[in-house]
Amino acid sequence: MKFTLYMPTKVFYGKDCVKEQASEFSTFGSKALIVTGKSSGVKSGALKDVTDILISLSIDYWVFDKVENNPSLETVKEGSIIAKANQVTLIIAIGGGSPIDAAKAIAALSTNNIEPIELLTTSIKAPSLPIIAIPTTAGTGSEVTPYSILTAKQFNTKKNFYSPYSFPTITFLDYQYTCSLPKSVTIDTAFDAFSHLLESYLSVNNTQQSAIYAIEGLKAFSNCLHAIDDRNFTDEIRDQLLYASYMGGLAITLTGTTIIHAMGYSLTYYKALSHGHANTLFIGEYLRFNNQVVKEKIDNVLRILKFSSVTELETYFLKHVGEKPITSQEEINQFAKLAMTQGSVKNNPRIVKERDIVKIYQKVLLR
Ligand code: NAP
Ligand code: FE
Repeated sequence: MKFTLYMPTKVFYGKDCVKEQASEFSTFGSKALIVTGKSSGVKSGALKDVTDILISLSIDYWVFDKVENNPSLETVKEGSIIAKANQVTLIIAIGGGSPIDAAKAIAALSTNNIEPIELLTTSIKAPSLPIIAIPTTAGTGSEVTPYSILTAKQFNTKKNFYSPYSFPTITFLDYQYTCSLPKSVTIDTAFDAFSHLLESYLSVNNTQQSAIYAIEGLKAFSNCLHAIDDRNFTDEIRDQLLYASYMGGLAITLTGTTIIHAMGYSLTYYKALSHGHANTLFIGEYLRFNNQVVKEKIDNVLRILKFSSVTELETYFLKHVGEKPITSQEEINQFAKLAMTQGSVKNNPRIVKERDIVKIYQKVLLR
């Protein structure tokens, strides 16, 4: 057996954990920048809970609520200017993966004298500002990963940077903050979590250790399949989805993702599909492509989710997300080239060539 485990984030999981652990906010100096989306901080209720605590602890705070879905380098630059100008000592991320990823970039830019593009091209030298992460979606697991995925016009795609300094210092996971999510976002983000669990489990980097998280998350996710069918998200189901997402974050921290993520980015960048929707389109073909090398594991996933075949699983997922985008062969060729530049391609269980990626795109988008 051989594995490495580094996951330094302190995790508080459970209903009302933010209020119950309010004193945790007091150990990072007296100035904080809250990084959030346009509405998620308010709708989830997390922004009020946090600002009440900051006021009670006499911590000054600024709110940067301009993070868009799939955050850009320009946005994180703007956030870092505010952080530096006010000499904040703590970044508090409230929102889905977009604000949490933006917060990781802002925390790194605040202490490293570099331009945002350098986050993607060089390694981070100085430790980032500490980050407290409070997810309001149940999907990315970003609250426990070292990854930050940014939209970079310069590369015509989304690119990730990761650094041991980008793990949030503390994360608070309370399903109540996900209850205001629209049903379609609930499903898209849940399917992103599923793809993390699946890709991690099938990854060449899978270990006995990472499989514990992946299997645990798949079991939690499988408890939610009927609720997703019924669009009936009770508190219990929200809690299970958040837990599955968190397990997915732990799992990909150890293994990375594989080609589903590499292929999905172009559908978000060029076709404006949500991240979870983009990933979901590839699940069936991904399983068929990899079946010859990881059949046992795929059978195990089918068993946990109680599907009798890959086709049945695929049908379930596809019926819950939007349409596939209209795409030309030329675009597919371009997307395949871009996918091959993603580091996650090397984690795929079966060795992948550009022509394989082209074929998968064709099967998914042209048929
Ligand atoms: P998101 O882009 O953060 O948010 C999607 C939408 O949901 C936004 O419109 C957001 O509103 C809204 N929203 C969020 N929480 C809400 C709530 N509680 N109530 C009502 N609306 C709410 O979605 P996401 O899927 O969580 O994150 C996607 C990003 O994470 C992508 O960029 C993806 O590449 C990245 N990602 C990162 C990792 C990682 O390890 N770092 C892993 C996978 C994916 P606002 O605009 O108001 O916020
Ligand atoms: Fe993802």
